[in-house]
Amino acid sequence: MKARIAEVFDSVQGEGIYLGERQVFVRFFGCNLSCSFCDTRLNRFVEYDPEELFDEIKLYQDGFHSISFTGGEPLLQHLFLKEVLKLNKKHGYKNYLETNGTLHHQLEEVIGDIDIVAMDVKLPSSSGMGQLWNMHYHFLKIASQKEVFIKAIISEETSLEDLKAALALIREVDSSCIMVLQPNSSQPADRLKEKIENFSLICSREKVTACVIPQMHKVVGVK
Ligand code: SF4
Repeated sequence: MKARIAEVFDSVQGEGIYLGERQVFVRFFGCNLSCSFCDTRLNRFVEYDPEELFDEIKLYQDGFHSISFTGGEPLLQHLFLKEVLKLNKKHGYKNYLETNGTLHHQLEEVIGDIDIVAMDVKLPSSSGMGQLWNMHYHFLKIASQKEVFIKAIISEETSLEDLKAALALIREVDSSCIMVLQPNSSQPADRLKEKIENFSLICSREKVTACVIPQMHKVVGVK
């Protein structure tokens, strides 16, 4: 079984609640969405079988927090992912999945070997992707078997209605889930400031724990 992998590298996590943790990143090629704010346009890949990828992961020095499977969308190649997750677990590594939160059937097949799920919620007004709420609902139900947090990109275009729909989803499925509000890094911070402050306040009023965390790798200039 082969999978298309765009790159394998070590760095520090630049997003979400594990910001700054050292990780080995495995970037899968290909995505089932095409978000308007996407900064991951991939055009090259190398084919690996699960053992080849695991051997490459092992080349990195110990001392990292976890192996981050990112993309693209890793769950598009879930049968391959399942094999690598198992090899990692046998070796004592922690598996961290970064995902767009839509492929719930595929998640169901791999959730047993995942430790942490960093799940995007695509707010229609900022992603341009239409309504994905039903997919996100089923996805979060499965992801909440493990540690999970949600990340939403906040742009000038993001509507209050979409934020409230995301908060309702969290309250209904897993009220302990943390919501990360991530300012769209391609828009000027001063134009987002007021909206971010207001959204953060609304999260707290609606009893959802929220953190405002920008993409730090862009701020400090690491990969
Ligand atoms: S889900 Fe992620 S990788 Fe896929 S298009 Fe959206 S931002 Fe890009």
